[in-house]
Amino acid sequence: MERAQKLLNTTFGYEDFRHNQADIIQSVLSGADALALMPTGGGKSLCYQIPALLLDGVGIVVSPLIALMQDQVDALRQLGIRADFLNSSLDAQSQRDIEASLLSGEIDILYVAPERLVTERMLSLLDQSTIALFAIDEAHCVSQWGHDFRKDYQQLRILHDRYPNTPRIALTATADQRTRDEIIAQLALQNADVYINSFDRPNIRYSLNEGQNARAQLWEFLEQEHAQDAGIIYCLSRKKVESTAEWLVEKGRTALPYHAGLPAEMRREHQSRFLREEGIIMVATIAFGMGIDKPDVRFVAHLNLPKSIEAYYQETGRAGRNGEPANAWMAYGLQDVITLRQMVQGGDAEEQFKRVSHQKLESMLGLCELTSCRRQALLAYFGETQSQPCGNCDNCLHPPETWDATVSVQKALSCVYRTDQRFGVNYILDVLTGKKNERIQSFQHDKLSTFGIGTELNAVEWRSLFRQLIAMDFLHIDVDGYGALKLSEKCRPLLRGEETLQLRRREKNVTKEKAGKKKVPVRGVDQELFDALRACRMAFANEQGVPPYVIFHDSTLIEIAKRRPQSMKDLGTVSGVGEQKLKRYGQKFISVVLEFPLHPLLDNPFSDTVNSTLSLYAQGKTADKIAQERSLVISTIYSHFSQAIAVGLLDVREVTQLTDVQFQEITATMNLLESEAESALKPVYEALDEAYDYGVLKCVQAAL
Ligand code: ADP
Ligand code: ZN
Repeated sequence: MERAQKLLNTTFGYEDFRHNQADIIQSVLSGADALALMPTGGGKSLCYQIPALLLDGVGIVVSPLIALMQDQVDALRQLGIRADFLNSSLDAQSQRDIEASLLSGEIDILYVAPERLVTERMLSLLDQSTIALFAIDEAHCVSQWGHDFRKDYQQLRILHDRYPNTPRIALTATADQRTRDEIIAQLALQNADVYINSFDRPNIRYSLNEGQNARAQLWEFLEQEHAQDAGIIYCLSRKKVESTAEWLVEKGRTALPYHAGLPAEMRREHQSRFLREEGIIMVATIAFGMGIDKPDVRFVAHLNLPKSIEAYYQETGRAGRNGEPANAWMAYGLQDVITLRQMVQGGDAEEQFKRVSHQKLESMLGLCELTSCRRQALLAYFGETQSQPCGNCDNCLHPPETWDATVSVQKALSCVYRTDQRFGVNYILDVLTGKKNERIQSFQHDKLSTFGIGTELNAVEWRSLFRQLIAMDFLHIDVDGYGALKLSEKCRPLLRGEETLQLRRREKNVTKEKAGKKKVPVRGVDQELFDALRACRMAFANEQGVPPYVIFHDSTLIEIAKRRPQSMKDLGTVSGVGEQKLKRYGQKFISVVLEFPLHPLLDNPFSDTVNSTLSLYAQGKTADKIAQERSLVISTIYSHFSQAIAVGLLDVREVTQLTDVQFQEITATMNLLESEAESALKPVYEALDEAYDYGVLKCVQAAL
């Protein structure tokens, strides 16, 4: 383990192991099998990379995503690790070259697609090589219960039979108990050490909104929270993907579509731009995202409901892998609920499969309509209990109101009943609200006792009510009957008046309390340097044709901007700067740091706003001018100055331009009144006949 720790520090440039990385590595090093369950971004890769380097021979990594192997290999090579991959994207000659290197022991880590691994040719190559370990990434693909089932994965059991003494480590980010059991059974991991990390992603804020006017809501969300950030927007259909991407482009954002119907070449290009450029929004169907390990995706938005909590959690998990704050945002509406219900109930799938899908959708809808903490519910679904509400989801931040909807619900249900359970939501709505159209008249439904009795709610509110009734399974949707609503058994007690029902009140489009200040990664005074560091990173990335984060992660650049290391030794202590990267990029990044010296005045621990004032002062501007420029009152500017005066960064006389006489007058008065606390300035102010600004007095006080 000492050697593992050393590798972590020198090769990877990280200080400490996270979570149970150390235990997992220890298991594998001791020759045991391991199953590691960790949330996305938890740091699974190190768990097999480090043992692969320490054990004799090559580490074989099974990964389902051919398209991403190149990036994974690039990232390892940046660290000086001899990595390669074998898949169908290579030409015959390259394949032979890599096979030769494999046989001569020149590869540390080799990525292989599952279908390739189980071929006789590959297995016979492996027979002739020394193998350090097998890592099975995205191991949930082996499970039929899971949502990414890959038949090839089931054949991986052969590794156990054929190489019983080689340690195997299976890794996944999504695993409820059932998937977990299936992984163990299918891969013969009964004797494996199992490591389960918390699945919580505390940096992700969940919010699930009712989807009236989803686009407008989305735009507001993007403007307020992610005006320049990279993110993913998921839509259900290809058409919606394309129209949404076009709309965003019109709005001035860089947005790219991605779905299975686009030419492979275009998909590749869009994926690669998303990875390599900054601030790109990918608008995609669920065809996009598996294995994407771009660390700085700041938001994942859903414009449609996912089919299951597993899918939702995996998709949203692509946000904020670097641990910085990120948003998982969704807008869903009545139509989503209906469409999904129909999709799950219809089709020719086997009954068993339909039942499973139905159950999963049920849980997803439950999450949507929940009025308590979303995170607690999500984690509970994965078998984890969190005793306290999280404080970082929409329900925690803006607790929803509920109302006693019993009477309205009774009206709605009996209207469904009286129209013989043969009509869809829109028709029922028209009857309830008393619309006299031809269709209704032809069925004589304007004569029903329920015609026009629903005036207490408007159409939008009724739709919200129906959505909740469908989501809660009071109403079924008849797939064969063109979406007709049918009453379920659950309705009886309600209709008989034996039960009451509380529903979520529809959120008025109140301007939600501003989500605080816009989040920025670095202090205002470090912004210029940070931008220059990013440009430097981009230049290296372009030169080598790799994504910027393969050079350095944002978190590394942020730390550099904050600490401004000026020597190789200092830079080497920044997290994410290992030996190899230090050697390759160190000088260049240091020269960037040196280009942006921090004014001594700004070398302080004060807040951003104080520093904005100080940096304007450093440019030679007066208090008046700064107040004007920043639209702040002059007292505020002086009070910013006073902080710098108190620690000796500014000279009070210079800042306030007080004459000797004035200065002495003030200090004398202060001494006389012995005011110390800020609140005690009032008597001084009055004693001086209100001749000086409060802020000026504060500056003098700070100097004393
Ligand atoms: P996963 O595969 O579990 O989603 P990764 O292995 O890609 O996650 O790791 C996520 C990020 O965290 C990567 O950028 C990785 O370099 C970083 N990381 C992993 N382990 C550590 C550690 N011990 N200290 C600091 N950063 C780490
Ligand atoms: Zn919460």
